[in-house]
Amino acid sequence: MQHTIMIIEDEEAISLMLKYNLEKEGYNVVVESKGSRAIAEVEKHQPSVILLDWMLPELSGVEICRLIRSKPDIKNIPIIMLTAKGEEDDKVKGLTAGADDYVTKPFSIPELMARVKTQLRHSPEPQIQKEISFKDIKMDLVEKKVFRGENFIHLGPTEFRLLKMLLENPGKVFSREYLLKNVWGDNIYVESRTVDVHIRRLRRSLNKFGIDYIRTVRASGYSIDDNNDTDESLENN
Ligand code: CA
Repeated sequence: MQHTIMIIEDEEAISLMLKYNLEKEGYNVVVESKGSRAIAEVEKHQPSVILLDWMLPELSGVEICRLIRSKPDIKNIPIIMLTAKGEEDDKVKGLTAGADDYVTKPFSIPELMARVKTQLRHSPEPQIQKEISFKDIKMDLVEKKVFRGENFIHLGPTEFRLLKMLLENPGKVFSREYLLKNVWGDNIYVESRTVDVHIRRLRRSLNKFGIDYIRTVRASGYSIDDNNDTDESLENN
């Protein structure tokens, strides 16, 4: 399984050079240049190692490091801090903020690669999750198929992604805005009503073979759970 390395760095020359060299080593690379978006991106990609620049606009490397260490789903990801020459004090701060290692710019590529490998040894092998399920709803992630009990359920690609998001976090209520951003993507303009349309389609397909587990939470969004709050689920039928 391919490891994902995330680079959080605002200097494009550096991130491009790192990306090039890491990809050459066979890693999958994700780059983020904005501190404010870093945490969401880390949560989304769940990288095996993070290369984190010290000086970032909006949110500093140290703040990002602290935030990562405070979040249960990402707190164990190894972090290598990239600091500039002469920021010796910063190294100490970086390590107290929870970084696992640091490299001073300008750094040598072979040295950095060696450090990445060291951190990967501490990082668990990425797990290939083959299936997610909730009650009698089963999603085969390899074949990209959905079943309800023994019944195959045909879903369009958007409904599939919507259902996947809900199944990955049963009980969690997702806002329409969050679903738009994460199921449709940042760059596509769609109205939040579109989410309702696709949820309706998803419900129609799923409910052919069982009861409705998708819950509409008034003014908040949608979740999948077995909380049969009739008031709220009736509203959407
Ligand atoms: Ca920088």
